[in-house]
Amino acid sequence: MSEREAEFLTSLDARTRGILETCSRCGHCVEVCPTAGPAGIDRREPARIVEEVLALLRDAGDPQSRGARWAETCTGSGRCIGACNDGVNPRFMLAMTRLKLNGLRAETERHATGQAAFGKMSQGVKVLSRLQLPAAFLADVTRSGRAEAVAPPDVVLYLGCNVLKTPHIALLCLDVLDRLGTRYKVLGGPANCCGVLQFRAGDAKTAGRIGQNTVAGFAGTGASRVLTWCPTCNIQLGEIVLPGAGAPFALEHVVPFIAQRIDALRRHFVRAVPKRVALHEHPGVAGVTEGVLAILAAIPGLELVDLGQPRVGYMCNSLAPVPAYKRELHAQELRAAEAAGVDCLVGIYHACHRELCAHEATSPFRVVNFLELVGEAMGVERPDLFKQWKMMQDVDRVLAEASAQIASAGLDVDTVREVMVAHILGEQPLPLGHRALAESPAPPSPGRFFPE
Ligand code: SF4
Ligand code: SF4
Repeated sequence: MSEREAEFLTSLDARTRGILETCSRCGHCVEVCPTAGPAGIDRREPARIVEEVLALLRDAGDPQSRGARWAETCTGSGRCIGACNDGVNPRFMLAMTRLKLNGLRAETERHATGQAAFGKMSQGVKVLSRLQLPAAFLADVTRSGRAEAVAPPDVVLYLGCNVLKTPHIALLCLDVLDRLGTRYKVLGGPANCCGVLQFRAGDAKTAGRIGQNTVAGFAGTGASRVLTWCPTCNIQLGEIVLPGAGAPFALEHVVPFIAQRIDALRRHFVRAVPKRVALHEHPGVAGVTEGVLAILAAIPGLELVDLGQPRVGYMCNSLAPVPAYKRELHAQELRAAEAAGVDCLVGIYHACHRELCAHEATSPFRVVNFLELVGEAMGVERPDLFKQWKMMQDVDRVLAEASAQIASAGLDVDTVREVMVAHILGEQPLPLGHRALAESPAPPSPGRFFPE
C-alpha cells in the first residue's frame, strides 16, 4: 500500500471514530431527510435508525436494518447537514456506512467492480468528448495538473469527467470566466478523476490514491482556488478526500463564484432573452441553486417561474436508489412546466441535462442548461450535439450525422456505436445491483453505479 493510500485510510478511520464519539443519537438527520420516506423507511424511531447506522460503522451492525437501507438510499440532498447540532456531517456518515456495507464483499471483487465502472465511464467520456471538441483543447484539459512556466492561474476550473459528454455546457462556463477576466486552468477527464467510482464500489484504497493524485495536480498549478463543476466531484473531494489531504487551495463550486461577480457579468449581457423559464433544481451543494437563480434574474427580459417541485438529490442520477420516486418527480415536473406555459425547462447539471433533454421532442418547451441562456444573453452559442443525437433515437442516423467527426477524431465506428447505444440512446440511470425502492430487503449493494 502506498503512503498516500495509507494516509487516506487512516484519515477515514479517524473521522469515523470521531462520528462514533460525537453523534448524540438525536435522530434529527433522519427526521429531515427527504429521501427516507420515498425509500419506504419507517421513521417513527429516528434515534434507533441512527443507532443501526453507528453499529454498522463499528462493524457490528445488521446489513438488513433500516439504518443500512437509509445509507443505501441516501441521494445526497444534504438537508441532514444543517440539521445536525453536534458537528457531524451525516452525509459523510452514510458514505462511510455504505463503504462498510461494501466491505462485506471480497477486496478483489470491489476492486474489479470499481475498475469496470471506471473503464465504462472513461470510454464514454473519451469518445463523446473527441466527437465534439478539438483535439488540442482536450489534450490540454485532460492531462494531469502540474506547474507551468507561467504565473499560476487564479483558479483551477475542475470539470470532472462526465460534463465532457455534453461539452457545450463546459465551453459556455469558460465563455463566462473569459468575460469575467478570470485567469484559469481547466482540468478534467479520467486522468483527473475524483475517485468516486472506486469509492462507491468499496475500493477505498484505490479511490484514495486517485483522489489524492488529482488533488496533488491541482496543488501543482499553484492556484489558490479550485472551482468544481460536478456536484459529485465537489462532494467526493470536499467531504471524503480533502479533509485528510491538507490541500493548499480552497474548494468551491463555480456557480457561486460567478454569482458573486454578477455585476461584472451583467455588462456582457448584450441581448434580451424574452423567455419564460423554470429551473430544474437540486440541493446538495450549498449556494448553487441560489447562484443560478441570481444569474438568471440578471438576464434582461427573462421571466423565472417557480414550479414548486420537491428539491431532492444532488443531481438527477443521485436519485437512482429510488427509481420509482425519481420517475414520478420527473413526470410531475414535466407536467408542471407544461401547465405553467414555460418556453424552457432549465437545468443546472450535466447529468440532469442528459436525462431530461430528449423530453424536448414531446414537450411544448425546450430543455436547456442555464448557461445556454447566459450564452444567449452574451451573444454566444455553443451547439448541443448530445441533445441532437439523443433526440434522433436512431443509432445509424446518429453515426451518419457524425461521420465527419468520427473520421477526423480517428475513432473506430464500432466503438462509437457501442458508446452511442450505452451512453446516449440507451442510457439508463438505474444503478447496477442497487436495491430498488419496491424490493424487499436484499443482500448489501455491490455499489452505486450510475453515470454522473
Ligand atoms: S444527504 Fe440527504 S438523502 Fe442523504 S441522508 Fe442526508 S438528507 Fe437524507
Ligand atoms: S448525526 Fe447529528 S443529527 Fe444525526 S443523530 Fe448524530 S448528532 Fe443527531
